[in-house]
Formats: sequence, C-alpha cells, structure tokens
Amino acid sequence: MPDEAYADPPDSEQPEQGTRLAGLVLVSTPIGNLGDLSPRARQALAESDLILCEDTRHSGRLLSAAGIDVRTEPLHEYNEDRRIAPVLGMLRAGRRIALISDAGTPLVSDPGYRLVRAAIAEGLAVGAVPGPNAAVMALVLSGLPPQPFLFLGFPPPRSAARHTAFGTLRAAERAGLAATAIWHEAPHRLAETLADMADCFGPRAAAVARELTKHFEEVRRGTLTELAAHYANHPARGEITVLVGPPEEADPEDLDGQLTRALATHSVKDAAALVSTATGLPRKLVYARALEMGRPQG
Ligand code: SAM
Repeated sequence: MPDEAYADPPDSEQPEQGTRLAGLVLVSTPIGNLGDLSPRARQALAESDLILCEDTRHSGRLLSAAGIDVRTEPLHEYNEDRRIAPVLGMLRAGRRIALISDAGTPLVSDPGYRLVRAAIAEGLAVGAVPGPNAAVMALVLSGLPPQPFLFLGFPPPRSAARHTAFGTLRAAERAGLAATAIWHEAPHRLAETLADMADCFGPRAAAVARELTKHFEEVRRGTLTELAAHYANHPARGEITVLVGPPEEADPEDLDGQLTRALATHSVKDAAALVSTATGLPRKLVYARALEMGRPQG
C-alpha cells in the first residue's frame, strides 16, 4: 500500500504538466546532453511570458533546438541587482517568468539567488522544475558516501587562498564534520587544486567527474595523491567536478594533543612544522594554534 502522502491522485485530479507553475519558475536545463531537457522543463519554458537567461545567445541555441519561441532577457551576475525591481513588477502584474542559467540548476554556482530572495520577501510565487545538476550527478557516480555532502562551489583561484579554504574545512573536520565535499573546478587549475587538496587532506579517497552526460564522460576515482599525480601528467579538458570523501575515521590524536607533545621539546616554529607535516594541516593554521598554546599561562 503506497504511503498516502505519495499516492497518485485519481486521473481526474492529475494536474496537467506545468499548470501549477506561476510567477517565477526556476527551470533546470541540461549540463551537456540536450536530451536531458525534461518535458516539464520544456513546457514551463514554452508557457513563460519571458525567459531570463544568464547568456541569451548561449540559451538561444537550447531554446531553438527545443522549438521554444519566447522572449529572452539577460540576468547575470553583473545586472541581477538592477533587474530585480522590473522583474518583480512583471511578476506582480501576473506575468510568468522562467529563469535559466547556462547549464544545470539555476542559482547553484549561478545567478538568481538575489532575485529569488527578493521575490520570496514580496510573497510572490516561486516554483522550480528540477533537473540536471553536475554536483549531484558527480556525487552519485563518485562511489563516495552520498550523505552528508557539502557543496562548496569553486575553490579560490589562488593557491594561498585555497590552502586557507581547505584548512577551514579541515578545522571543521577536526570539530567532527564528516561529509563528502564537492567543488567545481576549471580544467587548467585541476592539477594544482588536487595537489593543494592532497597537501591539506592527505591521501584521502576522492573522485574527478569530467564532461558528465557528454561524449567524453569520465569519472576517475582514487586517492587525492593518485589523482593529483595523474592530472599533473595528463592535463584535463572539459567541465570538471571534484569530490573528496570524508575523513576515514576520527583522527587518532587531536591537533592540540600533538602540539602539546611537540611543544614540550621544540620551539613553536619547529613544533608547528613537525605537526603540520604529520597531520597534513596547513602550516599557517598549525603555527597560529601553536603560538596560542605556546604562550605562557597567566
Ligand atoms: N548550475 C550548474 C549545475 O547545476 O550543475 C553549475 C554551474 S557552474 C557555473 C559550472 C561548473 O559546473 C563547471 O565549471 C564545472 O565545474 C561544473 N559542471 C558543469 N557541467 C559539468 C559536466 N557536464 N561535468 C562535470 N562538471 C560540470
């Protein structure tokens, strides 16, 4: 017996696809394979009065391939703030407006959050047609634990900032977080990012998902050390999502414990260097903690 909450309504009550969608509708579009535009996404787009696109030329190709002839306007990172008032005005006047990004689910590493927040604050209808999303597809193909997962967008482009960002995650892990972490990454930065990840997280289980849903789709699984070495020798191409598994088990010794022992016989600087090497934690982070701990009490 199906759970009542999930039971299909009788046919006469079955809403026609799309008839419930009013107001602002966030429509997910393919991440590479046009066949992934769902019938409901197609219908929602075709029935809109206006489609807001991250890039109207890029989305124009998808819309024309899908036979959709609806006015498009740009909504991207740089004009989103000034587009909000006119779009809310159109929604108040009863227009149906779809929002799409270049690929996948709008708002996820893509524009639209500020508009959605403003529409919600005004009590306007906001709906969504779910569909492709690179992070979730990569997660389920990775062989890494599917939950909990932590989606972190793109890592910082510079190595120093990346170390800081990964160090923050490492600190959260030390405080008990055990999640699969997911990042987008550009192909020309993949090898250096994996090397920085290997520095911070050690030889942890990880995966690189490339060109999902496309002809050269590939998911490479291995330790961070193996993946860093592979991509250092085989520069990657295409669109890439990187995943790092949770720490395998609780750290046998906590950072403070290791530092206490090292500080008993070493200077702050040497103790920080030793513990940073032993734990794989960023040297700056360990040094800052060693300084705090090394300070004489009272
Ligand atoms: N909104 C999109 C989504 O829902 O997947 C993500 C947009 S984000 C600007 C684009 C990044 O997502 C790419 O640089 C890449 O890291 C990742 N990505 C997009 N398509 C992908 C694909 N087919 N395979 C692997 N990663 C992909």
